[in-house]
Amino acid sequence: MSPAIDVRGLRKSYGDKLVLDGIDLNVAEGTIFALLGPNGAGKTTVVRILSTLATADAGEIRVAGHDLRQDPEAVRAAIGVTGQFSAVDGLMTGRENLILMADLYHLGKQQARRRADELLEQFDLTDAGKKLAMTYSGGMKRRLDLAMTLVGRPRIIFLDEPTTGLDPRSRHSMWTMIRDLVAGGVTVLLTTQYLEEADQLADRIAVLDHGRLVAQGTAEELKRLAPGGHIRLRFTSPDELALAAQVLPSAVPDHEALVLQVPNDGSVHALRDLLARIDDASLEVDELTVHTPDLDDVFFAVTGQPAKPTKPNETVTAS
Ligand code: ADP
Repeated sequence: MSPAIDVRGLRKSYGDKLVLDGIDLNVAEGTIFALLGPNGAGKTTVVRILSTLATADAGEIRVAGHDLRQDPEAVRAAIGVTGQFSAVDGLMTGRENLILMADLYHLGKQQARRRADELLEQFDLTDAGKKLAMTYSGGMKRRLDLAMTLVGRPRIIFLDEPTTGLDPRSRHSMWTMIRDLVAGGVTVLLTTQYLEEADQLADRIAVLDHGRLVAQGTAEELKRLAPGGHIRLRFTSPDELALAAQVLPSAVPDHEALVLQVPNDGSVHALRDLLARIDDASLEVDELTVHTPDLDDVFFAVTGQPAKPTKPNETVTAS
């Protein structure tokens, strides 16, 4: 089966600024591919080029089996794009927005209405469909935007940061809708700054940093690139902790929390080995938790920089 998207050696500069520095991507049909990276990494530029909105300086690109340079019309007919800037017209209702889009695809009047109603239902907007889009919440607007992308039944969809700025609940509902699309046979290439989003959705992830792909793989493969996996053992008494620290000399004790942090890759083999040593020494462990590296650790491991300066639940307090 030919890939839905095949990119080799994609390069792009704006003036003397090199934005994409030789990108290779391969997206299998019916899968979700995430392009992950911080602001300014070049994600939107990739989407704009693959969706024919901008031209590449160099590279072999095939989308839906068509050569992008030779047959951009055929590419356009196979794809849908939802960008960071909404195509929704706030002065029309959701339903009118969809019908207008259907008109652009030359669906007949009847068919346009049927398709609009179908999509409103699919995106949980049936009631909202009668109201002006300017009254919608951020999540509703994004859903309408995605619904509008689907009017022409594209086989491949580009989603540029589909959940940026959404609250956690709207984000989860967007994720469900994206998964449903793929279950229906569509291929999705999405960009995201959220490591968790790529982990949740994508079959494969490419990490983009300053116009270069610095890592590529499944979430699990990427996590293996990051050091920092460990097992935390909590004990009920300082004596027990001291004994355990002798048995496990590579571990780092936290005397206050009665916790021992044991470096460990989290594999079944390593875990079994550790449990055997605990058993042999007759140690009483109160609690055991496994920390496997998450994608934040991965980004740091492959770029040497944190993916984002602070986490949402972290606050800086002045003393
Ligand atoms: P991302 O989507 O990862 O945030 P972009 O692809 O939007 O990154 O941008 C990558 C870099 O390219 C940025 O430094 C941006 O300023 C630059 N860039 C993007 N579009 C243009 C343009 N039309 N003209 C000049 N520079 C651009």
